[in-house]
Amino acid sequence: MPQPVRITFLGGLGEIGRNCAAIEQDGQIVLLDCGLMFPEDDMPGIDLVLPDFTWLRERADDVVGCVLTHGHEDHAGGLSFLLRELSFPIYGSKLTLGLARNRIEEAGLLARTSFEAVEDGETRRIGPFDVEFIPVTHSVPEGFATAWHTAQGVVMHTGDWKLDLNPIDGRFTDLGRIGAIEVEKGVRVLMGDSTNAESAGHTLSERAVGHSLRQIFDQHRSRRIVIACFASHIHRIQQIADIAIEQGRTIATLGLSMKKNIRLAKDMGLLRIPDESVVDIADLGDVDPSKVCVISTGSQGEPMSALSRMSSNDNKWIRIGKDDTIILSSHPIPGNETSVGKVIDGLHRLGAAVVHSGIAFVHSTGHAKQEEIKTFLSVARPEWFVPVHGEYRHLVHHAAIAYEMGVEDGKVIVSLDGDQLEITDDGVTKIGEVPAGYLYVDGSGLGDVGHGVLRDRRVLAEEGVVVVIVTVDQKSGEIIAGPEIITRGWVYEAEAEDLLEEARDVVRAAILGADDTEPESIKRHARKALGVLVNERTKRRPMIVPVVMEA
Ligand SMILES: [Zn+2]
Ligand SMILES: [Zn+2]
Repeated sequence: MPQPVRITFLGGLGEIGRNCAAIEQDGQIVLLDCGLMFPEDDMPGIDLVLPDFTWLRERADDVVGCVLTHGHEDHAGGLSFLLRELSFPIYGSKLTLGLARNRIEEAGLLARTSFEAVEDGETRRIGPFDVEFIPVTHSVPEGFATAWHTAQGVVMHTGDWKLDLNPIDGRFTDLGRIGAIEVEKGVRVLMGDSTNAESAGHTLSERAVGHSLRQIFDQHRSRRIVIACFASHIHRIQQIADIAIEQGRTIATLGLSMKKNIRLAKDMGLLRIPDESVVDIADLGDVDPSKVCVISTGSQGEPMSALSRMSSNDNKWIRIGKDDTIILSSHPIPGNETSVGKVIDGLHRLGAAVVHSGIAFVHSTGHAKQEEIKTFLSVARPEWFVPVHGEYRHLVHHAAIAYEMGVEDGKVIVSLDGDQLEITDDGVTKIGEVPAGYLYVDGSGLGDVGHGVLRDRRVLAEEGVVVVIVTVDQKSGEIIAGPEIITRGWVYEAEAEDLLEEARDVVRAAILGADDTEPESIKRHARKALGVLVNERTKRRPMIVPVVMEA
């Protein structure tokens, strides 16, 4: 009987971001993407969220490689963390590897991996699998769907994809090859991108964005134009550059990743902009502002980004004023709406004209909508279907589409992070769960932040802190000084003197009433008594920190 094949989902099923799955046969594991997620509003001080690597750590010796579908951070950004502990080669297109390499190099981990470039349509032996790389169109060039030829038939993964009937680089989603695989072997299991499963209709071509941008540029001919988009959206950058050059504008880049990615894509022949048309913003000199087009990062309102700083008049290179037009050629990722809104507002306050996706057609999604999803399903005709890459509601909608498209009853599996599926001759079943919580990374990115730290931060942010300091005699346990109470973010001390006096009394009584005089015991009594009072009087639950000093 053929070997079973296992798929373990470590991220991306239940959220948009940190996509990561492990595909396993004969005890060997090949990763399918290893991404990160950007934090949500309820994660104070958190910079990144990663998949939980606990299970991979246990299986470290079995991991033989990682296949990257494309170069976006939600698919490749986790590698610079995982490679600290594990070592394996990475497979992907040249551009994908180039983008991934940047971060891995910054983390000083190049020695832990090797970069294995694959071509469109190539099949590569990786561990126990023949992995076939099928071109798909997306919002970064050189994306792949993958077909994993396994002991249990073809396991296919769409990657992030859309159907663009006239793509900028002429590189189509290869439905022909997907259909051929279906005819030759059949598709046993399909995993599909669910991002836009709730959206009716068909995505618009990236080229249509170009037409719209050209009109906007025409309307603002006499003004300086600053346009922000994703630094990896090479096709968008190409169209912007073409229009700018047509209008005799010099292109200046702003933001390190924009500069780096333009260089990378130009070197790879994926971006055609004459060298003399692009300068770094620092080298712009006294070019007439109406002959300038600045291409900037920060389209998601990221707090430290070039655009965000412009909006608060804090950018080193550019002062925004009434003669400027700012175009946000993007759509906010869920969770970023507020920060994008603030940037737009700030730019208006400075007198600029602002064009964004709420009022003009300046962006087209890179993820298939319902009619494209149906097209894919009608060509691949999978026996089993697992929706991936989405919040729970997206997965559920995607599941419904799969049934509508003829997948048999019971053969659509809505899985979540941590689920382990097994494919055998009898079908696909969930056989277990592995740890799949959020791994929080903060600031320096040197260490991960535990759930406890995040819980503390939420309490501090929402409820404040009350510190109670008391000095006791080491031998007798009698109170020598205090209790003193210091609060931040709980009550305004000047107006709460009575309350604080009462709190001191309560703590004093609790300590005197305690039956033992160990510092830990004193702390426990103080915390408990104070907690009860605070909650009774203010209906709040600030963090209570008792400090006992012995003298
Ligand atoms: Zn993507
Ligand atoms: Zn993605």
